[in-house]
Amino acid sequence: MFVFDLHCDTLFKFFENQRYSISKNNGHISDVGLKNGGYLAQCFAIYQPTDITGDRGFDYFKKQCDVFKNAVSKSLVLEMATDKMDIEENRKNGKVSAVLTVENADFLQNDLQRIKTVEEKGVKVLGLVHNGENCLGYPHSNDKALSELPLKGFGCEVVQALNSTNITVDVSHLNVGGFWDVARLSKKPFVATHSGCSAVFKHSRNLYDEQIKAIAESGGVVGCVFYSHFLNGTNTTDIDSILRHLEHLINVGGEDVAALGSDFDGMDCDLPFDASKIQILVEAITSKFGFSVTEKLCFRNAMRII
Ligand SMILES: [Zn+2]
Repeated sequence: MFVFDLHCDTLFKFFENQRYSISKNNGHISDVGLKNGGYLAQCFAIYQPTDITGDRGFDYFKKQCDVFKNAVSKSLVLEMATDKMDIEENRKNGKVSAVLTVENADFLQNDLQRIKTVEEKGVKVLGLVHNGENCLGYPHSNDKALSELPLKGFGCEVVQALNSTNITVDVSHLNVGGFWDVARLSKKPFVATHSGCSAVFKHSRNLYDEQIKAIAESGGVVGCVFYSHFLNGTNTTDIDSILRHLEHLINVGGEDVAALGSDFDGMDCDLPFDASKIQILVEAITSKFGFSVTEKLCFRNAMRII
């Protein structure tokens, strides 16, 4: 069965190591691994580290766009996709679609004009914040006061501006106050690309039931993260934990809200599979939820928001 994964941090590996190869590496994702894993599409996030600040951020963003395009063009397996037609075309040609996303949009630096560049670069999903405060808003936190802070004025303007683009807002990493501003301001489906459920395991990176419902009502999706720290609080991801979070997403938000958002190459824990072996998970999901629901979870729901 096809897989459409809404989040990985593989592009950051290229920043840490200029000679990183998408074809041959020790990480969770390689291009051949994606092909062997039966992937339809993989989202690749440009993650802006918090120590790259101010105007350096925009240069960094543009540089990482080039890194992405370079890696894709060198690969015999990957082809960039910016819409459903691209994905369908790539599938027919035996290629895995690579979709560009952003995690931490601090590089926008109070300049709405920059959204045009982001669009032109082919970014399809934009995560407003990462784990630190930025010019848009505040990150998830266990501190109630911090968690309830609203989106900043510029963050609100960005969400409104994105309403008239084909870029989807991503609320993974965002605090609760910011989340509800996105829910209020977004006229389009919005998503959490890599999160879990608070009711299954309490963690500030996970979503409360009301948040899952709000995403579902918008027509958006929640990509279930594979990171054990969010799934079960241990150092080991097990398939049952992933299934529990997926089941809760379905119970609370319906079968159209649940998707996959691995966080491959962005997590530090033991995993029972990497991208090349993702069908181990797909089989477990199929046994639990049946074929047609599994199709939704593994790729159909994600396709809907691209
Ligand atoms: Zn993340």
